[in-house]
Amino acid sequence: MLHILYHVLVPGLIAWLFYRSNWKRVWLLMAAGILADLDHLFAVPMYDPGRCSIGFHFLHTYPAIALYALLLFIPKVRVLAIGLLVHMGLDYIDCLV
Ligand SMILES: [Zn+2]
Repeated sequence: MLHILYHVLVPGLIAWLFYRSNWKRVWLLMAAGILADLDHLFAVPMYDPGRCSIGFHFLHTYPAIALYALLLFIPKVRVLAIGLLVHMGLDYIDCLV
């Protein structure tokens, strides 16, 4: 539950810090990075607190993350890419603790 909260609040903070003029719109786009968790639906069991998402679910693999990094260079989808990378970062922290 706390996990989902982080996935919503951290993009909000970044949006507010760096995109102050239209932070609500940016927040929405970044929070869309949480959609990457849809790949959990294909996993059995769907949610396992002891499992590390990174490298397990297909939207959380290193090639996928490399793709998100490439998206940073496309201005139109940059915010979405930041959202996805923030998401991966948060999931990665989850794996460490
Ligand atoms: Zn995730």
